[in-house]
Amino acid sequence: MARLEVLISGAGIAGCTLAYWLARNRHAVTVIERSGSLRSSGSPVDVRGLAADVAERMNIAARLREASIRLKGMTLLDSEGRRVARVDIATLRSSIAPKDMEVARGDLARILHEASAGDADYVFGESITALAQDETGVDVTFERSRPRRFDVVIGADGLHSIVRRLAFGADSEFVRHAGLYAATVSLPGSRDAAGEMFMLNAPGKLAALHPCQGVPLAYFIFWRPEIPGFDDTDLDQHKRILETTFAGIGWRVPEFLDAVRGARDMYFDSVARVDVANWGRGRIALLGDASSCVSLFGDGSTLAIAGAHELAKALTESPADPQGAFSRYQAVHGKLVASKQKNLISTASRIVPRTSAGLWLSTRVFWRTMGGLGTVVRLGRKLRGQ
Ligand SMILES: Cc1cc2nc3c(=O)[nH]c(=O)nc-3n(C[C@H](O)[C@H](O)[C@H](O)COP(=O)(O)OP(=O)(O)OC[C@H]3O[C@@H](n4cnc5c(N)ncnc54)[C@H](O)[C@@H]3O)c2cc1C
Repeated sequence: MARLEVLISGAGIAGCTLAYWLARNRHAVTVIERSGSLRSSGSPVDVRGLAADVAERMNIAARLREASIRLKGMTLLDSEGRRVARVDIATLRSSIAPKDMEVARGDLARILHEASAGDADYVFGESITALAQDETGVDVTFERSRPRRFDVVIGADGLHSIVRRLAFGADSEFVRHAGLYAATVSLPGSRDAAGEMFMLNAPGKLAALHPCQGVPLAYFIFWRPEIPGFDDTDLDQHKRILETTFAGIGWRVPEFLDAVRGARDMYFDSVARVDVANWGRGRIALLGDASSCVSLFGDGSTLAIAGAHELAKALTESPADPQGAFSRYQAVHGKLVASKQKNLISTASRIVPRTSAGLWLSTRVFWRTMGGLGTVVRLGRKLRGQ
């Protein structure tokens, strides 16, 4: 088998998984990450279905289970912190999807990185500045390192991918803002409330306290048209936006905003859909959020892991024909992505209603139905003697 020299841009969920599978198939892998170290922020994300199988084959499933967050329930509060409704997540999950794992995004990235770090070369604090491909390779220039030539370059650099911008076209061609922004910040001074998630809604806004292996997270989601001049790397800008959006909505939000003020790594991004028609162009391809973001409700990680496995398999089957490999990877993985991209806006509207009337309806219909479902499942179990 011919060995490929592969450059991966982005040490996130997709990039680290791809590095593992390519290195395991004896390709030479370099991963560059814009950040100075592995990013640690982010709320828990799901590892489901195909991705859970891939994790099993990487021998990391046990570590992921150990790191996983066992969410018991979701409680909706009013602005005084009084309980309005509750959904028994543990019961619903154990009957609908017992194999799914929910892991803090930072823990997932760390475990994937550790699995691949011994066999791939990771360079932090680096970014690509130019790409020029011909029939036999890709010439790459970097912000800091000297230029190098690779057989193949993969953009696993997320929603704002530099590889997509340099090799496929401007963001405006592919990225559609879904109308929401999301942010998470760790609350090191607080304690987890035994697996319970608490949520406070105001029209168009949600603030939540999410349990996360002992150190909970504050989670913010809000509806807002595209913010002019929004920069996904500008921490000070993110802090200002959260401060003005969430001031005065009650409950423990002032404490959350204190944590925002002191944060050094915080996740804040627009919720967006990415649609790129062809994920491969010659010797350059896109993976994960860079090609097909479905952001917000955690499925992006499952897709990133499953997609990375499929892409490594395709490249290993036909290393001399990267374009053919990219087409096969998209033909298989594209079906899974399409099934997940459909329901983003309707799910977001249920969880973060935009108006007072929407909030009233959501409490009575969505929360009560889900709460009732939990009761039905528990009763069914009792009757079956489980
Ligand atoms: C810090 C962080 C926190 C997140 N938190 C959440 C969350 O709470 N909820 C949720 O649903 N999703 C979250 N996401 C997104 C989620 O991780 C992805 O939707 C999903 O896992 C798909 O993974 P990905 O590897 O394609 O992209 P990502 O996980 O976003 O990884 C992309 C990586 O590329 C790096 N990168 C970006 N630009 C460059 C560049 N120019 N050069 C080199 N590297 C670059 C980024 O720093 C990042 O490490 C978060 C992403 C990040 C980076």
